[in-house]
Amino acid sequence: AKPVLEVKDLRVSFKMYAGEVQAVRGVSFNLNKGEVLAIVGESGCGKSVTAQTLMRLVPTPPSYIKEGSSILFDGKLEITELTEKKMEQVRGAEIGMIFQDPMTSLNPTMTIGAQISEGILKHQKVGKTEAMKRATELLTLVGMSNPEERVHQYPHELSGGMRQRVMIAIALACNPKLLIADEPTTALDVTIQAQIVDLLRDIQKKTDTSIIIITHDLGVVAEIAHRVLVMYAGKVVEQGPLNDIFYNPRHPYTWGLLRSVPRLDSDNSKELESIPGSPPDLYAPPVGCAFAARCPYAMEICKEKDPAHFDVSDNHSSACWLMHPDAPKVEPPVGIG
Ligand code: SF4
Ligand code: MG
Repeated sequence: AKPVLEVKDLRVSFKMYAGEVQAVRGVSFNLNKGEVLAIVGESGCGKSVTAQTLMRLVPTPPSYIKEGSSILFDGKLEITELTEKKMEQVRGAEIGMIFQDPMTSLNPTMTIGAQISEGILKHQKVGKTEAMKRATELLTLVGMSNPEERVHQYPHELSGGMRQRVMIAIALACNPKLLIADEPTTALDVTIQAQIVDLLRDIQKKTDTSIIIITHDLGVVAEIAHRVLVMYAGKVVEQGPLNDIFYNPRHPYTWGLLRSVPRLDSDNSKELESIPGSPPDLYAPPVGCAFAARCPYAMEICKEKDPAHFDVSDNHSSACWLMHPDAPKVEPPVGIG
C-alpha cells in the first residue's frame, strides 16, 4: 500500500528583515495508513511549521516552501504545487487539523452544530438536516453526552475539554485520510489531557485515520504514537518505532529529551534534568551537527560536517556521528533505553 504521506527534503524558511530564518531544513518521512506519527522536540525545532506546511497553512511571519521540497499526499497530490483553490478542498475534506487552543479556532457566534455541519455542507453533497444529523453522530463519536442538545450550544457554554472534543469532531467531519494535531492537549489540564489522548487513540482505531501529532510531551507520545520523529533545529535527528525511540534511542538529543521526563519505574519527585544550553540561531545555522554546542559527546567531525542519517535498523535511523562504524562506542546515560 502507498503511504498516505511522503515528505521529501522539506525546507521552509521565513523572510525576516534581518535575513532568512531556516525553520525547516530538509525533513523527510513517510506516514502509512492507520499510523500515528508523533513529531517531538523543543519549541522552535520546526515541528509546528512542518505540520502547518503539510496543510499549506502559512505561519506568520510569512513562510515559504523552498525549491526541491516535496509533500506527496495519498500517492497523487503534490501539496507544494496545488493551487490555493484545490488546497481548500483538501483541507477539511482530506486532511483535518486540530489546533492547540480550541477557543481561538471556534467561532463564538455560531452553535457547535452549525460549525461541525459547515465543513460537511462545503465538501459533501448533503442537505442541512443530514449534515446536522452527522454533526450529532460526530459529537457521540468524540464522547459527548446529550449530543442532540449540544449541537444547539455555543462554544462559551462548554468547558475547555469539551471544546477540544468539538474541534476534533470538526476535523473528522468529512472522514479525512489524515488528521494533524498540533499540541492538542497543551492548553488543557492534566486529567482532560489524558481523556483527549484516549479519545484520539480510540478514534484512530475506529476510523483507521492516519494521525500526525505534534507535541513536546513524551507522555502523550508513549500513549498514542506508533512511530516517532525527533526534530532539532529544523531537522530530523532520529526517527523510528515508538519502542526503539524509548528503549533503544541512538541520538544524544533524544537521550536528553528522555532524561527530562519522569520515569514510571523511578522516583517521580526527583528533579528532572533538562538539556543545558539552547538551540542554535536559525538565521545562520551552524556548519556540522546543530546539536554540537550542547552535546556532551561532540567530536571534531561534529563541528565540521553535518551527520548523515545512519540506520540503526530497518526503520530506525539516527543522524549522529556516533553511529559511524569508526566512532568511539558510547552507551546512553544510565536510566535511558
Ligand atoms: Fe553529538 Fe556529534 Fe552526535 Fe551531534 S553528531 S549529536 S555533536 S555526537
Ligand atoms: Mg508549536
